[in-house]
Amino acid sequence: MSAQVAERLAAVRERVAAACARAGRPVESVTLVAVSKLKPAALIREAYAAGQRDFGENYAQELRDKAAELADLEGLRWHAIGALQTNKVKYVARVAGAFHALDRLEVARELSKRREGAAPLPVYVEVNVGAEATKSGLAPAALGDFLAEARALPGLQVVGLMALPPPTEDEARARADFQSLRALAGAHGLPELSMGTTHDFEWAIEEGATVVRVGTALFGERELKPP
Ligand SMILES: *Cc1c(COP(=O)(O)O)cnc(C)c1O
Repeated sequence: MSAQVAERLAAVRERVAAACARAGRPVESVTLVAVSKLKPAALIREAYAAGQRDFGENYAQELRDKAAELADLEGLRWHAIGALQTNKVKYVARVAGAFHALDRLEVARELSKRREGAAPLPVYVEVNVGAEATKSGLAPAALGDFLAEARALPGLQVVGLMALPPPTEDEARARADFQSLRALAGAHGLPELSMGTTHDFEWAIEEGATVVRVGTALFGERELKPP
């Protein structure tokens, strides 16, 4: 198993760099978040040893436990990327360097409360760009009011928008969703765009992603079920 994560990481980094080159963007303009949900801490150590520093986790308790287990890895940044229940905000607020799935004011208020006195937590508001029948993400029309409230909260810094459109082989459709998110972020004065997964991160970069969240291409298929 051992060299595999490093090899996969190198391959993904090359693809990120190539997409940046096609888009005429510097490679430093994209942060690769390695999504390690449901994968063992040992694989995170391998990726860290290969130079990876940003890691994404979906489940609050799993994030809490891995952060404790890997506390010796200096400079590792945790990105909480999954929907959060209010009663689990405390686990995320303590260890996360960013939260990517904000779509409820109740969660924003709880995060704000838990971060008071600490450095503000960078947050991305999740938007349901394709108007899909998915559970998560704000409707684009609700974004203005939501941002007005979220931006007023201490302890949080709204830095951008996030989307997780359903994977599709339809490139035009995928790009259209990414373009919608970019236009919304521009309209609301937000510089960061968290979009693109294993399936579509190159398209996302070409459409302006500043953060891509890649799991399977780095760590392989996930066999375990969410808790
Ligand atoms: C799991 C997950 C990813 C990574 O998906 P892959 O297809 O494994 O790259 C990215 N973003 C979110 C929100 C996820 O839940």
